[in-house]
Amino acid sequence: MILDDARVLVFSAHAADFCSRAGGTLLRIVESGGAVQVHALTYGERCEAPALWQADPDRDVEEVKQIRKDEIAAASEILGVPVSCFDWGDSPLVLDQHRLEALVQAIRAFRPDTVLTHWKNDVMHPDHVETTRGVIWAVSYCGAGGIKTQDPPCPRPRLFCYETTIGTAPAAGFLPEAYVDISSVIDRKLEALAKFEAQFNLSDTYDVLGRYRGFEAKSTAGMSACTHAEGFVPIGTQSAG
Ligand SMILES: [Zn+2]
Repeated sequence: MILDDARVLVFSAHAADFCSRAGGTLLRIVESGGAVQVHALTYGERCEAPALWQADPDRDVEEVKQIRKDEIAAASEILGVPVSCFDWGDSPLVLDQHRLEALVQAIRAFRPDTVLTHWKNDVMHPDHVETTRGVIWAVSYCGAGGIKTQDPPCPRPRLFCYETTIGTAPAAGFLPEAYVDISSVIDRKLEALAKFEAQFNLSDTYDVLGRYRGFEAKSTAGMSACTHAEGFVPIGTQSAG
């Protein structure tokens, strides 16, 4: 399972996605002595900063990006995981060959056991789908010697998709196949999420979702003491168990 892996690399389309979908899992990995690195592809400055644009529709986009950068730093400190941002621009996020190869380089530099990213069919949020497309490509070819990057080829990591855009799991066909019990760290996850003030009510929303996934974990995965959980779907042939 994800918690058994020593090195976990996360790709997040926007500033807060990694925290809302997998923040509890990352806290548990760090607690168990694992290493985590997060790469946000963008700050979500255009599509995922509604509170800022509502407060001032005429503000400079660079100012929005700086605010989101500060939010990431605050959440990163609470979670205890390093987070960097490629700043590739959101909505639309477009991954060309250069950027795809940058994803390969990120994998080769960290040499993860497991990669986490968005659900492949997150159809209500095209930036998320574009991220997954690129990450699947990079995971598939990180061992290819013909693709030249700063670091040499590395073994292919396992790939898990985390939660889809909130409320769209039925439309996107997201059915968790693996659960991580985050009951012991939910308070810190919500504290970290509260730092993303550019988005409305993330803490409340993902508290509800965590409780629901926890209920599923209790009912379907035998996790009887679980109050909050995060759900994942593996991509490829690896076992989720
Ligand atoms: Zn997002």
